[in-house]
Amino acid sequence: MHAKVDGILISKMPYRERDILGKLLLRNGQKITVLFRNARGGKRNKKTLNLELGYFLKTEVNKSNTGGAGAADDSFFAANDWTLIWYHQRIRENLKAFYLMCLFLEMGLKVSLTASVFTLLNEQIISRPNLRAKNRDGEGVFSVLSNALFFLEDSLTKNSFNEERELILFSIKLLYSEGVGMNLSECIRCKMPFGKVYAVGLISKEGGFCCNSCSGSCSGVWEFSEFGEFSYLYGLIKQALITKYRDYHLLRVKNSTIATSATTKIIFNYFCQQFHFSPGEFKSIKSLL
Ligand SMILES: [Zn+2]
Repeated sequence: MHAKVDGILISKMPYRERDILGKLLLRNGQKITVLFRNARGGKRNKKTLNLELGYFLKTEVNKSNTGGAGAADDSFFAANDWTLIWYHQRIRENLKAFYLMCLFLEMGLKVSLTASVFTLLNEQIISRPNLRAKNRDGEGVFSVLSNALFFLEDSLTKNSFNEERELILFSIKLLYSEGVGMNLSECIRCKMPFGKVYAVGLISKEGGFCCNSCSGSCSGVWEFSEFGEFSYLYGLIKQALITKYRDYHLLRVKNSTIATSATTKIIFNYFCQQFHFSPGEFKSIKSLL
């Protein structure tokens, strides 16, 4: 079985002497495991530089019938050749940006579902316009991640990189594309629409904010912004949600680092809670704090 796929390399590890075992996030928002043959260094190998985390590849994958790792796994493929569609340069030169990209990839890896041979075959059929709509589930992860990487690189090129802003924008876009964003329209307790009442504290477990009237009964379960401005977090989330990725520079944040940003912490913890992850499961976050 052969299939031509486009995907972002969201994880990779060395395998055997010359190969790389990687995960590709496909355009449909699902991931596959791919054995990239002869992708590692070596005097005879020119592809070495072509395969880095965050790169966007076009490759023809096939189901490995030769045995070995993952041969029995329905979502395991092998690739002999690939071409680069997009790659970053600046991200690798900036340590913070690199770890931030790694965190984005980790988050994408964790929320995406695994595609199978069946999905890939089906994908080729549904690429016809009239059937396209059938397979939209999970598509958002790819769209959010590809935008995040592209504009992360862009911000470095334009000298406007802001790690806090990038993480907030990515997390909010991902949460809402996965359908688990915060309820911004009404108080999570009394259901009074915001506008008539003020959003005060985020109650992560309940997926939204409580209002000023309910604040007394919500005491102890909410998370405030540390800045003392109760509506700041609410306003920031709302702003991030409507900000188009190409306008990322318009999103105003208060701090400049992830380590000192209470807002980033609250949003990241919310993300973890919604997907039942522990923040400690993300290796890259440690390098950003
Ligand atoms: Zn209320």
